[in-house]
Amino acid sequence: MQPLLKHYHRSIALHLLLMIFGVYFLVAVLVTVIQLYKEYENTRTEFYNEIQTLPSTFGKGISDSVWTYNQELMQSIIQGMYNLPIVVGVKVSSLDQKMDFQIGAVLNEQRQVEYYNSDGLSTKQTHTGLGSQSLFDHEFPIYYQGPAFDQKIPLGTVTLYSSDRLVFERLKYGFILILVNSIIKTCMLWVIIYFFINKYLGKPLKEFTFKIHQQDPQSPNPIDLDISWTDENELLILKDSYNQLIQRVNMNQIELLKLNQELDEKVKVRTRDLERAKESAERLAYSDPLTKLRNRRAFFNTGRQLLNQAETQHYPISLIMIDLDNFKALNDTYGHALGDQALITFAEVLKSNRPSIDIMGRLGGEEFAVILPNTEEDDAMKIAEHLRQEISHIELTHEQSIVRFTASMGITVNSQGSATLDQLLAQADKALYFSKHQGRNRVTAHSKIDTLTTE
Ligand code: GH3
Ligand code: MG
Ligand code: MG
Repeated sequence: MQPLLKHYHRSIALHLLLMIFGVYFLVAVLVTVIQLYKEYENTRTEFYNEIQTLPSTFGKGISDSVWTYNQELMQSIIQGMYNLPIVVGVKVSSLDQKMDFQIGAVLNEQRQVEYYNSDGLSTKQTHTGLGSQSLFDHEFPIYYQGPAFDQKIPLGTVTLYSSDRLVFERLKYGFILILVNSIIKTCMLWVIIYFFINKYLGKPLKEFTFKIHQQDPQSPNPIDLDISWTDENELLILKDSYNQLIQRVNMNQIELLKLNQELDEKVKVRTRDLERAKESAERLAYSDPLTKLRNRRAFFNTGRQLLNQAETQHYPISLIMIDLDNFKALNDTYGHALGDQALITFAEVLKSNRPSIDIMGRLGGEEFAVILPNTEEDDAMKIAEHLRQEISHIELTHEQSIVRFTASMGITVNSQGSATLDQLLAQADKALYFSKHQGRNRVTAHSKIDTLTTE
């Protein structure tokens, strides 16, 4: 099962942007605040400077109108000053108080703001935000210096009021311009950087991850990334490293497969060898090496099985016991090798005479037994007799002479199906002994011993 591809909330591009612009935004705000403060100070200084130039322009006119008590003239001059954009209020204080006049926003003795209309009459507040803190003033004296006087005659003071609010008003436009400008620039930069980080970093990484996810873990293939804009960069190196790893994994896999196949082959060969060894061991364990007939143990095993089967299936079983005659003398006369030859030839004759369903075994020395399934005594007698004759016709050559030998046999039958193999063997042995006793080279049935004895 393929693991699920994880979804992420923040792409690299977005994360980088938030980081970069978080810092950028703080710096931008700080710089703008400093810039604004400096602008504010400059503008305020400009206001002061402008206000300080006013006495030279209006001072003479005011002095003359105060000296001549020309209320109308003075008011029109003051009105003219008041109309200047940087002035929010004007106060004339004459020494004799006859020509005192205020217009706009002015500060009283307690430095509280008072408002006067164009006729110099106290009125309600018309300018919002002109608190006493925002007002700043410039006071200049007025003198009369006519041709009749040597000295300047002080007439009073004129105080001009301006306001921080006006400074801000003047700054406002510039500030909005800076703000809009930097917002637009920031947004544009944001979009551009996001686009490029995403295009050159985010998308290839996403494509890489997707392709890794699509890989078949059994046989992963090298990955190709659509990065046509460069020959070499970290992503391509990463991709190449990944592909090299994949190749190594694949090569290892192939080697592993080869090793597995070799191992499989070896296991098969070993298993075959083992089976052969087992078969030959079994053959050795169950067969007589000289005659290739069943040995005593195998004969008993199979014989007992057949006996059980005959008992359950109710068919008769006959048993022939065979002992070669005067074999000791044969050995003594012609040698042991010829004795062996006689045993081998006897076994071949036995096998060629009997079907494979018969159980033939060498019980020891020159003693053999044959179990005939589904055979009654009469048939067994015939078979044994035929066999006896066949044996007597065997001719062995020793030097120039022909050597013959004979065999004696005893047979018995298990017609009731109740005897054990040992009992049957004992009966057949008894019959065999009888054959020997009667002069050898003959067949005796166990059932006939008594009859034959009385004859
Ligand atoms: P009988 O007719 O009474 O059976 O006489 P016999 O000589 O055959 O009797 P006995 O049992 O005394 O002798 C059996 C001989 O068989 C003894 C032994 O030398 C010989 N013999 C047993 N096994 C082998 C064998 O594997 N090879 C050879 N060559 N001789 C064997
Ligand atoms: Mg014997
Ligand atoms: Mg013998």
